[in-house]
Order: sequence, then C-alpha cells, then structure tokens
Amino acid sequence: MRLSEKVVILTGASSGIGEATALRFAEEGAKLVIVARSGDKLEKIAEKASAFPGEVHPIVGDVSKKEDIENVVNKTIELFGRIDILINNAGILDNYLSADNMTDEVWNKVLDVNLTGPMRLTREVLKYMEKQKHGNIINTSSVGGLYGGRGGLAYVASKHALIGMTKHIGFMFQDKGIRCNAIAPGSIGTEIGLKVTNPNMSVLNKLMKHFELFPQTGEPNEIANIMLFLASEESSFINGTTIVADGGWTAF
Ligand code: NAP
Repeated sequence: MRLSEKVVILTGASSGIGEATALRFAEEGAKLVIVARSGDKLEKIAEKASAFPGEVHPIVGDVSKKEDIENVVNKTIELFGRIDILINNAGILDNYLSADNMTDEVWNKVLDVNLTGPMRLTREVLKYMEKQKHGNIINTSSVGGLYGGRGGLAYVASKHALIGMTKHIGFMFQDKGIRCNAIAPGSIGTEIGLKVTNPNMSVLNKLMKHFELFPQTGEPNEIANIMLFLASEESSFINGTTIVADGGWTAF
C-alpha cells in the first residue's frame, strides 16, 4: 500500500474530487480526517471507506472559519499525534462575475474559502510538520489558476494565488523536509457547477465559446490518482510546482 499509516487531513471531501481522493487514499492504507460542512455526506463516505484498509474520520468544518480550522487540526493530533499530509481541496466557484460587476460579498466569500482557508490550515499544520521534520501539502488549484479565461474573476484570482502560495511554501520549507505542490484540473464531472446560483450570463457565454472547442470532461478519480502520486514517496523530488490534468484543454 502506498500510503500505509500516513495521517492525512483532506478538505472538501464530501463530494467530487475530495470524495474520490478519500476513497482512493483509504484503499492505500491512509488514516484520514475528512472535512466539509455536510456531515451526513462525510458519514456516508466514511461508511463506504470502511471496506478498505485505511481509516476515515469525518469532522464537520467550514474552512472559511478560523475556529473550525483549529478544531480540525487539534482533533487530528488528538486522534493520531501527527499530520503527514494536508490536502487543501475545498473550493467554490463565483457567479462568473468580472471586474466591472464583482461584489465585495462574492469576492470575500470565494477568497475566504479558496485561499485564506488553505493559508490558515497550512499555518496550523506547519506547527507540527516542522517539529516532525516532514510533511506534504497539496493544494487543488485549477486551470483557472493558470489562464484568465477559465472562470469568474474571484475564482481565477484565488486559484492563481493558490499556485503562488504553493511555490512560496515549497521554497520556504524544503529544507525542513516539507513539500508543497498543486494540481490544476481542467473540467471534471462534479457538482461544483450545479452549486452556482444566478450566474452572470454574458461572462459565462464568453467563457463557454472557448469551452466549446474542448468539451471533454474528466472523472474525479483521474484527479484522485494524481493526489495519490503527489502524496506518495514516488513524487519525492517534486516540490513547489503544479501538475496540470486537463486532457489537453490548455494545449492550444
Ligand atoms: P464539489 O463536488 O463541489 O466539491 C467541493 C467540496 O468543497 C465539497 O466537499 C464541499 O463540501 C467543500 N466545501 C465548499 N465550501 C466549503 C467550506 N466553506 N468549508 C469546507 N468545505 C467546503 O467540487 P469539486 O469539483 O470536487 O471541487 C474540488 C476542488 O477542485 C475545488 O477546489 C475546485 O475549485 C477544484 N477544481 C474543480 C474543477 C472541476 O471542473 N470540477 C476544476 C478545477 C478545479 P460542503 O459543501 O459539504 O462543505
């Protein structure tokens, strides 16, 4: 097993890429704390994972709340005494707003979940990873973190910043045995788009013109497999960088 006994905090685990990653990691023997706001969904995933060799412990938490982040980290330490791997995967889209119609409310909400949450969680786990002298942090960015035309303004800005944060952490902590990488998925078949209410159609239509050239959608499991590679020792020399998995969407 590739993650035997590894202690993992995984956010955004109640559906989509996070759910697929939780199950894949449990198959490989990891001890996971899975985090999201929907406790019932997390419980069902833990039940599914009970067929696998790993352990899955649900903790309900909102990554945009500082106290929830501290609770997740404290409970993980109580349960397992260390944190080997952190996966900042929770994320939300904006309503496809552009700079002329962005609201403070949408901007702050998206940045809080997609960027400030990962920063705070990283800050908390580093306290333990530095003492342990090892650690592995993986951030779910997006092709929207590399290109301008793959999302609304707040989403694109947050995912670009997450890639910048990944490079900074990878550089600053490599001498302490800690790695940090990002994954930039293209379009993956999850619920994320269904959660958008009241999208700005003129921005969305402009983005969709581009999307029409490449309508291929990937499966959550195809991203979970890359998470597994980055979490395992097979990727030991990969640090501070981003793996794109988009079936070729950004090849043109
Ligand atoms: P998803 O099925 O909607 O999953 C999003 C996860 O984030 C859910 O578990 C959700 O759970 C959780 N979440 C949202 N807000 C949260 C909060 N405030 N606190 C804690 N958890 C929160 O979508 P997905 O596609 O798997 O998205 C996972 C990641 O992949 C995101 O970072 C997304 O930006 C990224 N991504 C997705 C695609 C794609 O095409 N699907 C492409 C590129 C990047 P609760 O609602 O239960 O809290």
